[in-house]
Amino acid sequence: MDACSFCGRRADEVGRLIAGDGGRSRGQLPPAAICNDCVELCYRIVHGPHIPLPPIPQDILARAGACPTEVTEETGSVVVNCSSAAEPSEAQAATCKELLAPYFPAGAKFRFFWPVEPPARASASEWLETQIAVYNEPPSTRSL
Ligand SMILES: [Zn+2]
Repeated sequence: MDACSFCGRRADEVGRLIAGDGGRSRGQLPPAAICNDCVELCYRIVHGPHIPLPPIPQDILARAGACPTEVTEETGSVVVNCSSAAEPSEAQAATCKELLAPYFPAGAKFRFFWPVEPPARASASEWLETQIAVYNEPPSTRSL
């Protein structure tokens, strides 16, 4: 098998061709193969139509004070993942949108996300203290 079973291109026409055995152990199907481009296409079908961001100059990103990481095609939204740990103020969000808007289709909606501190887990730190105590014991008395 030297052609992609999906798009029909030969091995020498694609970057990578991955061969399958058609489920040889079950013996029902002819061997199939898939090329790197068709894997990518299938990934998009399975995981949703995420498309890469258009290139945004670094100085624009710095002035926007945020790090946009992806455009979600299905909702027509520009997802902006903020680098600051707090919710952006209305003014900050407006400034960010104004700076980034020229890089996206007219009328695109902007949605802002920011990192949230995970809640403290007492049980986890108690567990950690127990581990530290064990490793602070002299080797001869360490229980493993
Ligand atoms: Zn293909």
